[in-house]
Formats: sequence, C-alpha cells, structure tokens
Amino acid sequence: MPTPGTSDKVLISCRINAEKGRTGKLNIQCILPNQGTTEALALNGDSMSSDKYETNRPSLPAELRRAIEVESGHACAVKGCSEHTYLEIHHIDQDRNNNNPQNLILLCDKHHKMAHNDVIDRKALRLYKAELSPRINVSVDSLAALLTELCGPDISSQLINNPGAQLQIVLNPASVEELQPYIQSALVVLRSTGSICSMGMNSRVGNHIEELKRPYGLGNGFLLSFTGES
Ligand SMILES: [Zn+2]
Repeated sequence: MPTPGTSDKVLISCRINAEKGRTGKLNIQCILPNQGTTEALALNGDSMSSDKYETNRPSLPAELRRAIEVESGHACAVKGCSEHTYLEIHHIDQDRNNNNPQNLILLCDKHHKMAHNDVIDRKALRLYKAELSPRINVSVDSLAALLTELCGPDISSQLINNPGAQLQIVLNPASVEELQPYIQSALVVLRSTGSICSMGMNSRVGNHIEELKRPYGLGNGFLLSFTGES
C-alpha cells in the first residue's frame, strides 16, 4: 500500500508508431487507486527524439513506401523477426532527406530503436537490405553500373546506347547470376553462344575453364543485348 508523499512507479507500456510523423507530448492521466488523485505524466510522443528527427520530417511518397514494404514482404527486414504489425521505414544513413530506395529499410519498432541506438549498425542494416529481393533496384542506371563492373565501361555504354544490338561477351556464372534480375525484368536478353573462352573481355575471368562450365553445362560465351525497355 503506497504512502502519500512517496513516489510510486507505475509502468505504462504503449506503442507509438513513430513513422506517422507526429511529434509532441503524449499526456497520460494516471489515477492512483488508493489516493483518488490524478497525476499527469508527460511523455515524449516521439521515440526518435534527436533534434534531427524533431525537425524536417518529410513524408515518404506513397509509392516509395509501398515499394519498400513490398520488398520486405510487409515484415521486419531483420532476419528471423516475425513482426508484421508495428512496422516503420528506417533511413539507414539516418538522413531523412535521403529517400534513395537503397537507403530505406522496413523495420519493426523494436529493431528500429536498436538501429537508432547503433545496437544494429548501418553495415548490418545494409546486409539485411541486400538479402531482400533486388526487384526495386532494377533500373537502367543500376544495369549500366553492373555492366561496367562486369564488362568495363566501353561495353557497358555500347550496350546501353544501342538498344537491340547484340554484343559478344564472356561471363562467368557469378556474373550471369548478377544479371538475372535484369533478364527477368526484360531489360536485357542473354543468350549462350555455347562457345567456351578461356579468357575474354570480362575483368572477372581468370577462373579455371572447368569452373566456368560447371553450373550451366554451357560455355561462357554469350550474346547480350539491352532491350531499351524500362
Ligand atoms: Zn524486427
């Protein structure tokens, strides 16, 4: 039985959706049963209470928000987390103005707080992000960057600037895997020529020829074309 004048701790648990863009105070009236008095508790209504988060909270365009939610299957992106209800979009670099999809990840409120406390650091968040479907990353720009990485800048710009033109290239199986999202999105068409090259234009070539042949039962020579569709 609490004595008047002493402090009684009352644990109040509430969940606040911090992505709704609301800031300010949450007032809770607490009636202590033995005293019949009321005590007003003022809690900060925003769990992300740094100055950066109190000001300038541009809301995400609905389409972008939906893309991030779909990418994550409307679930927290942290592997093994089964939370589907209390979800918030987190800016990995903690810059709310950086709405590049690569910087956005869907987290539950618990993991969102852990991210802000650096219990889950940015690198870990990027790794979780990388495990999500690459679908939203498919664009002509990201294709050009990948082709530059795989085949060099000359072949990349030749392909992108000449839709429909087929170029003979050499790809190892890992590179073919990296192109899969673009093939599925019909941005590029990749055909095996059946030929086997022990060296070629691909900067990653250098693997033993048997290793190149193994996963596909094919040669590593391909015809690649950019369809120009996006
Ligand atoms: Zn979670």
